[in-house]
Amino acid sequence: MASFTLHGIPVSRGISIGRAHLLTPAALDVKHYLVPEEQVEAEVKRLQEAITEVHRTLQELWTELPKDAPTELGAFIDVHVLILSDPMISEAPLDIIRSRHYNAEWALVTQIDELSAQFDEIEDEYLRERKQDIQQVAERVLKVLMGTALAAPPGRAAGEDEFQPQMIVVAHDISPADMLAFRDRSFVGFVTDVGGQNSHTAIVARSLDIPAAVGMSQASRLIEQDDWVIVDGDAGVVICNPSALVMEQYRARQTALMKARKRLLKLKKTPAITKDGTPVTLLANIELPDDCGPALEAGAVGVGLFRSEFLFMGRSGIGNAALRVPGEDEQFEQYRKAVLAMKGRPVTIRTLDVGADKPLDPTEHTALNPALGLRAIRYCLAEPQLFLTQLRAILRASAFGKVRILIPMLAHAFEIDQSLSMIAQAKAQLREQNVKFDEAIEVGAMIEIPAAALALPMFVKRLDFLSIGTNDLIQYTLAIDRVDYEVAHLYNPLHPAVLHLIAMTIEAGRKAGIDVAVCGEMAGDIKLTRLLLGMGLREFSMHPAQLLAVKQEILASDLAVLGPRTRRILRAMEPSAIAEAVEQLQTL
Ligand code: PEP
Ligand code: MG
Repeated sequence: MASFTLHGIPVSRGISIGRAHLLTPAALDVKHYLVPEEQVEAEVKRLQEAITEVHRTLQELWTELPKDAPTELGAFIDVHVLILSDPMISEAPLDIIRSRHYNAEWALVTQIDELSAQFDEIEDEYLRERKQDIQQVAERVLKVLMGTALAAPPGRAAGEDEFQPQMIVVAHDISPADMLAFRDRSFVGFVTDVGGQNSHTAIVARSLDIPAAVGMSQASRLIEQDDWVIVDGDAGVVICNPSALVMEQYRARQTALMKARKRLLKLKKTPAITKDGTPVTLLANIELPDDCGPALEAGAVGVGLFRSEFLFMGRSGIGNAALRVPGEDEQFEQYRKAVLAMKGRPVTIRTLDVGADKPLDPTEHTALNPALGLRAIRYCLAEPQLFLTQLRAILRASAFGKVRILIPMLAHAFEIDQSLSMIAQAKAQLREQNVKFDEAIEVGAMIEIPAAALALPMFVKRLDFLSIGTNDLIQYTLAIDRVDYEVAHLYNPLHPAVLHLIAMTIEAGRKAGIDVAVCGEMAGDIKLTRLLLGMGLREFSMHPAQLLAVKQEILASDLAVLGPRTRRILRAMEPSAIAEAVEQLQTL
């Protein structure tokens, strides 16, 4: 097999080695997880029973056909019965469950995809179109399966099972919601054709701590199912069918990385204090309450960003296209779960940030420029009932521990005022019902639109804290879509304009005496830790996986040295000089 290398964008660090698993859009529509050895036969039975059930339904349809029904109708049912009885449908997926340990839905969709590809090659148009019948039959079985789905086994990596080689997902694209569904950790690496450094898909890959490279352009076309693949998530390189020598080198690097990580674990309880004795607050970014476990394990002293929209996404599937939004009680339970898990440490819950690459309903029409459209607070203010519901749920959770409310994408004074008045309204409603909440709950703003960073007095006057969303701040300052790999090379956190906006925000917060954090991906990039410290940042919020490495940088930093150097960097206007000076900070 020919070996080849693809270059793209590194988005999640580390090295993974495994067999390629090509994911088609159809496969992404169903749950996929690995079934433990002892449950394989039960899973096989689940699929067999679903097939039998569909047989029964088709039989019933036959007997219930009115006498005057057109003959084609009966013929259709016959074709579906024939397809269902064919070993390609009734047996091959069972073999996939047994050999690959896929759950029933995934096994069926994998088999259907393989069959569909074979049908596409058929020249005869009539036969080629029978593909649709096969898909319809599969849909029937999937619908039955959905009613009998077992819970995915939690937290098992494919590589932990001796029966299954480690698998690397190769797909054209993966939405953030689909990426979140990979939480069961059946995969060890991700490769996609499209995507950018700070797309939400990339962010979720980082939070899952799984090596990933995106923007690979042709990967899903060039890499074949079961090819051996190395993902170098540090360099954004994917090597397909590597030679034995290359494989050996990467295995050695992988082992070294694992050892370095283990060493970092020793820092878990060490307070994050610079050499000159300045304490720094290290917080975690989470997508779901279950992430609090890894956050605490990494020694986070609180949650700086709970991306609440992930509770709202990926809730519809086959047969259930209707959009479902979690109600107040369901949200409250999730927020409370996070608050209780953090055991008294603060939890900053960001209100719904949907839109752009996180659509609430992926089937809905999207604006021409969704990143500039009805996103985040704009959406919430346009949907006051939905916003009030969320605010009440957050407020109720504040009775169980320290909670802060963070509002995304604010740019206008009236947006701040309206948000605050909605919070006041939610509080009044709870008071009326005698429901407890923290009357003094702090409310903060994401600074992620240049207009906000240039109008800080408007913010510090009205709010209790600020959190700089560098991912969007870079996107909007440099006018590049953070999910578009064709402009990914222009996405530069060290652009002088970006650095100035960040420095201005930190300074404005200091002067006003309010906390300022960075919760964008810059906070978790160890190459930028010293620069941010030098700018005066004392609160960093990042994925738990990055936290200890950032702490190591902080422990080795001396603010007396970093301050003057950083001021010089902020005066520079030449990108190459800035990049070089930032690199030098790491050698101090
Ligand atoms: C940001 O924009 O930096 C941020 C933290 O929010 P998100 O990545 O969810 O847009
Ligand atoms: Mg943002």
